Order: sequence, then C-alpha cells, then structure tokens
Amino acid sequence: MQFRDLGAQYRSMKDEMDQAIMGVISSGQYIGGSSVGELEKRLADYVGVRHCVTCANGTDALQLALMAWGIGSGDAVIVPDFTFFSTGEVVSAVGATPVFIDVDCRTFNLDPEKIEGAIDLANRNGLKMRAVIAVDLFGLPADYPTIRALCSKYGLLLLEDGAQGFGGSIGGEKACAFGDVSTTSFFPAKPLGCYGDGGAVFTDNDEWAALIRSFAVHGKGSMKYDNVRVGMNSRLDTIQAAVVLVKLKSFAHELAAVNRVAAQYIDALAGNSLVVPYTPSGYKSSWAQFTIQVPEGVNRDAVQKALREVNIPSMVYYPKPMHRQAAFSQRYMCECAPIADRLCKTVLSLPMSPYISEEEVSFVSREVLRATCS
Ligand SMILES: *Cc1c(COP(=O)(O)O)cnc(C)c1O
Repeated sequence: MQFRDLGAQYRSMKDEMDQAIMGVISSGQYIGGSSVGELEKRLADYVGVRHCVTCANGTDALQLALMAWGIGSGDAVIVPDFTFFSTGEVVSAVGATPVFIDVDCRTFNLDPEKIEGAIDLANRNGLKMRAVIAVDLFGLPADYPTIRALCSKYGLLLLEDGAQGFGGSIGGEKACAFGDVSTTSFFPAKPLGCYGDGGAVFTDNDEWAALIRSFAVHGKGSMKYDNVRVGMNSRLDTIQAAVVLVKLKSFAHELAAVNRVAAQYIDALAGNSLVVPYTPSGYKSSWAQFTIQVPEGVNRDAVQKALREVNIPSMVYYPKPMHRQAAFSQRYMCECAPIADRLCKTVLSLPMSPYISEEEVSFVSREVLRATCS
C-alpha cells in the first residue's frame, strides 16, 4: 500500500496528461506561455479572488508575500509552532523574527488566544509585530473569523499558508481567500499537486499582486531586463502549469473522495482510546493528511513498526515543533507551546488519497486499532 497513491491518480487521467505534457514539449515554449496564464485565471476563479500569481514552490510563495509587504529586520511575525518548517523559515529568510505560538489541541491550527501574548512579547523585545501567518494544517482551514478580527484590531497583516489547504472551505468560502495574501504549494503530495515543484500566491490587492509578480521575476520593472528591486527567480514551469490544469478537472471529484475516505476512517476509529481528527461545524477539510493521535502511554514507534509489518506506511507530521528547530535557535521567540510539544509525540498520519479503496481503509483501520488499543 502507498501513503499517497500518485500513480493511481496518473493512471486515471493518463491520456489527457500525456497529451498536455507533450503539447508543451512540442510547442517549444517552456517558461511562461498560455498554460501559465490560463492556470492563474482558473485558480483565481476557483478561490474567488482577483489575482493569482504562480511561482516556483509554496515556500517562495510565502516569502514573496513577506517581501511585497516589506517585512524584514526589526519586524516580528506570528507563526504556529506546529507546522512544516517553511512557515517559519520564510520569516527568518527575510530577516524578521518568528514568534511561535501554540496551537489548538483539537484542530492543530494556530490558537487565536495566543496572539495577544505574542504581540506583547515582541513589543517588550523592541520588535514591531507586523503579520500573522496562519496555516491550514492537514487541509483544515485555520480559525479565520477569529484571527481576522484580531488582525484588524491590532493592525496586522494576515498571510494564509494554504500549502496543505487548497480545496478546503469555511461556510462555503474557499481556502486561499482568507488572507490579505494567501499561498499554496503544488508539491506532488499536496491536495493539488504537480509533477515537481510549484506554488501560487492569491490576493485581492492589485498593488501587492503587481509587486509579487515583480519580485518573482528578478524584481522586474516594465520588462525582465529593467530591474527596479532585488527579487528572486521564482516561476512555475509551463509543463507544471499544464499538469495542474489537467488535475484541476478531477479536483472536485477528488475532494469528494477524500472526504468519503476521512468519514470512513472516523467511523471505524472513533470511540476508541485514540483521537481522530476534528472538523468544526461549517468547515471543510481538503484532507492533505489524515492524522490521529495515539493514546497516551502507547509507543508510537511500535505502532508504526506493527503497521509496517503488514505493509501499511504511516508518517509522523511533525516530530519537532518550530521552537525546537536548531535553525531558529539564533533568533526566535516563543513563550511556551505545550500542545505543540505533545502533538509532536502523539500524532500519526495514515495513508490518505482519493484513490484509496474502501477495503484498504477498513484494513488500515483494523490494523491501527489492533496496534494502538490492544
Ligand atoms: C509544503 C508546505 C510548504 C512549502 O511548500 P513547498 O512547495 O514544498 O515549498 C509550506 N507550508 C506548509 C504548511 C507546507 O505543508
């Protein structure tokens, strides 16, 4: 069994995919071109925002947002302590200081109650709090209604890291529309992946969209060889744009499928000593991961080993909270994050994909219960 079966996805759309990729190769245009423009339009329409700017990966997408906002040395940015490294990395990369805050024990997402404390902490240390990066962890949108209200109250910019969240929603409003700027990643294993690296930035703001387009192509002015700011080289390859365009056609169907898979897992696993994912009412997850928590006192390594013995792959996302990553040790702030610390010891992600069968989900569920609750 595979953790995320990308081969099954390819087989389901092989003819169209092969044709799209060959179409780019025979066109002779490998950077830019109509596929990139068409994809940006489709993605902006899907999300319901004015602008989509594609780029080289989800990490660059986050960094481009911070660059457009002029965030740098002397600034602080709030980042959840339980996330993929990129979310904090980009803050340090632009010279600002990440302030890691704890997450909600049920959703694993940034706990809005910790925002005010983080602003105080930054102020006491002579830094200016500029922005909050909220992450749609494992596909579930963060608590944007509450986070947005606090950002307005304290004059902070809101950046939605939707790398795992594309396709999720709150009350019908789509993920990647919640931030002042929002980003996603097309890394192959994300909900909407390409066949390499790729990313995108979303915003309703015309000025930021134009700045991000410039920063993504060497700080270009009126054209590529007129450089008005120091930027980066961060474009989505034409082939990758063609790949995402094909995958978008099946995306609604895949989203429905992963939600069925999640419901089946929860049905089979709930009511035992392990903890199943929680989805607040009105929220829809894109199920980038299906992540349980092993019961206290159960050895997670032993559970993974037992699963491996029956050919079931499982992953630990994430084994280390941000505030314990050596890379940040020179410059970061964090009051304490006991929930992130605990989650790093208990979480376990199970095989999840639109193409996993009912029989496979039953089998995984049975083996997980056997390994954790016996
Ligand atoms: C994957 C991921 C990123 C980075 O995306 P890349 O395309 O791999 O650079 C950023 N944030 C989160 C939460 C992610 O899961």
